[in-house]
Amino acid sequence: VRSRHLENPVVCKRPDLLSRASRWFQENFPGDVLYAVKANPSDWVIDGLYAAGTDFYEVASLSEIELIAKRLPQARMAYLHPVKSRLSVRKAYFDYGVRIFAIDCEAELAKILEETGNARDLTLMVRLAVSSEHALFSLAGKFGIAADAAPQLIKLARAHARELGVSFHIGSQCMEPVAYSGAMQAASRLIAAAGVTVDIVDVGGGFPCIYPGMTPPPMQDFVDAIEAAFEPMLVHDNARLWCEPGRALVAEAESVVARIDLRKDNTLYINEGSYGALFDAVHASWRFPIRALRQNPADLTGLDEFSLFGPTCDSIDAMPGPYALPADIAEGDYVEIGMLGAYGTSLATGFNGFGQYDYVTVEDKPCASMFDTSTSAPAASGAFIDEEFAR
Ligand SMILES: *Cc1c(COP(=O)(O)O)cnc(C)c1O
Repeated sequence: VRSRHLENPVVCKRPDLLSRASRWFQENFPGDVLYAVKANPSDWVIDGLYAAGTDFYEVASLSEIELIAKRLPQARMAYLHPVKSRLSVRKAYFDYGVRIFAIDCEAELAKILEETGNARDLTLMVRLAVSSEHALFSLAGKFGIAADAAPQLIKLARAHARELGVSFHIGSQCMEPVAYSGAMQAASRLIAAAGVTVDIVDVGGGFPCIYPGMTPPPMQDFVDAIEAAFEPMLVHDNARLWCEPGRALVAEAESVVARIDLRKDNTLYINEGSYGALFDAVHASWRFPIRALRQNPADLTGLDEFSLFGPTCDSIDAMPGPYALPADIAEGDYVEIGMLGAYGTSLATGFNGFGQYDYVTVEDKPCASMFDTSTSAPAASGAFIDEEFAR
């Protein structure tokens, strides 16, 4: 590693893991799988998911629509942000052929009808407010129509929609399958109260991955809970299920290698931080798996606990951890931070002149996986990352 001067943090891409997650959802989810583009809009991720069977994309802005349309002209898109600009609705409909739109109030429905010339071929998805109590990242409070007003909106949307769906988002990094079944039961009651049929039940994102101290139940348990809750729902006989995973499809597929630029006692100053891919390490106080990358594994000493500082001048750019690393770790050593494929580089800014990345492709196993239980033991600190990077 030391022989190759690398100024920027290095993103390690793992195409095999990306494909595996995509195939797992395609094979095991009993419905359509939409990838939530915001989790990681990198070209290699978009292309890799598509090659591995994910051909349906959840987009939230005009630039995400343009990205998917340009790279994957055959892909389907659903514009599921509940609050959209008028221009983006118009362009989505007329320029990019998008027909699927979310609404969570009458005003947004009126906006979509006006901007599409009262289109008769819309799929309208009514976003319901649901509880975020089982997720580590709440998405409640901003979007979704409350239960008392939902039946009215469902009924109104039915009158304007070619196809009607209901959707919700139970929050990100959901740890309990019952969060999905509970939300589906609530949705079913609202559909019954509206007295109309529904063609699509969209259970949203929220599927988890494994972070230190956060090991969710197996992914199959989430799918089983959704399948069981779908059966008794009061919907159309031919109603379909959708889900919109972001995190779960991509988290394992990228890690970031950062360089230690200075050590002060047990504080390490590294060239990656909260304005880069480690936003959640600060703002959600999450710990990410970490290991040292060293030229010579014989260097291995005992472990000690460290906190990390990122490269910007802002004192909020600090990751308290604690992170276990070799006690003799020093300036010029590298650390690999895992599980950064989702909401990692996609949140990086250019603040203070940082935020540039180099990319390499690696083939090693992830430090933990929701899709292959044989790798669920954390990697040993001090392990080599791969031949390509060390070259
Ligand atoms: C962010 C988002 C997702 C993806 O959520 P994850 O927790 O990453 O799976 C899916 N749908 C919508 C509407 C979102 O905003």
